[in-house]
Amino acid sequence: MLPSSNISLQPYHSFASQEEASYFSKISDKQEIVAIVKWSKEKQLPILVIGSGTNILFTKNFEGLIAKIELMGVKKIEETASEVILEVGAGENWHHFVSYCVYKGWGGIENLSLIPGTVGASPIQNIGAYGVEVQECIKSIEAYDTLSENWVHLNNADCAFGYRTSIFKQNPNRFIIASVKFLLNKQPQLKTDYGVIREVLHDKNIKNPSLEDISNAIIQIRSQKLPDPKVLGNAGSFFKNPTILFNQYELLKEKFPNLIAYPISDKAYKVAAGWLLEACGWKGIRNGNVGCYEKQSLVIVSYGIVSGKEVYDFSETIIQSIKSKFDILLEREVTVI
Ligand SMILES: Cc1cc2nc3c(=O)[nH]c(=O)nc-3n(C[C@H](O)[C@H](O)[C@H](O)COP(=O)(O)OP(=O)(O)OC[C@H]3O[C@@H](n4cnc5c(N)ncnc54)[C@H](O)[C@@H]3O)c2cc1C
Repeated sequence: MLPSSNISLQPYHSFASQEEASYFSKISDKQEIVAIVKWSKEKQLPILVIGSGTNILFTKNFEGLIAKIELMGVKKIEETASEVILEVGAGENWHHFVSYCVYKGWGGIENLSLIPGTVGASPIQNIGAYGVEVQECIKSIEAYDTLSENWVHLNNADCAFGYRTSIFKQNPNRFIIASVKFLLNKQPQLKTDYGVIREVLHDKNIKNPSLEDISNAIIQIRSQKLPDPKVLGNAGSFFKNPTILFNQYELLKEKFPNLIAYPISDKAYKVAAGWLLEACGWKGIRNGNVGCYEKQSLVIVSYGIVSGKEVYDFSETIIQSIKSKFDILLEREVTVI
């Protein structure tokens, strides 16, 4: 199928700004992936693959082909008394997949309930929430390598997963993910370490939570805390939690005793980016139609029509203010185009 030309990207990403793509195509089978890669190479145009566009900021028109991945299907590959392996199409909705697993009693990804987006995008930044990262349940990934023009199967170790990163994030646009294999547990160890999860379970008087109880608790917490992208444009947490060395941590802790940070090794600390923003007074601050969400400063929201460039410039002002107050350089979590 030939791509359509000069398409508004507004319906295809959660900031819903009005940039355009020169070409746009929906991909619903693997052969189409091979075909669009060939087509764009012949035309010497870049390709950008998207899922639901909930982690992308377009700051300008995209002079190339946007391929929206819609490969579907959930297939059981293997099942034992304790585990199940599922192969899932990259275009499946992430939360629907989580809900299906919770319903079946297959554990591992219930703490990632209600994260927007597709299954195929979940490994890109190794989505994580409430003490769980998706890498913990990924067995392997099938992707088209646009460099070698071959299909590849990457095992978990090949994916170089880290905090909000992976081989895919480090090599943007090289791999087009078609499906992900998940290994889930039929006798799961529930992760309820987060105080806020325990509070919800306590309020509901749940002493022996099921997968469904955990998932429902997380849905409740997230619904109260995070803006719905259908109402206020956003891409979730805009910045990553930065890592600082022990010496800098000691100095900052002395100056700012309330600093929220936790050790990740004997030399380094991870700092809560949300705390840094709040300490600089960003919570609820608005500039025109762009601002920091009133309940969660880490989420930049659009209150009306904005360009991606306005959002980007707002985030740049935040980065500069954090740099000058704490000497910490924030990194954007969102993919900026
Ligand atoms: C309200 C809200 C809350 C959020 N909460 C969280 C959270 O708790 N934790 C978290 O980790 N993230 C969170 N996010 C971010 C986002 O939901 C995830 O990053 C999600 O995985 C993005 O999925 P998507 O399909 O929308 O990807 P897109 O935004 O479409 O794409 C994201 C990146 O992945 C690439 N990509 C997408 N699909 C493919 C594919 N098939 N093959 C190769 N590359 C691909 C794109 O090129 C792009 O670089 C949140 C976002 C919002 C709006």
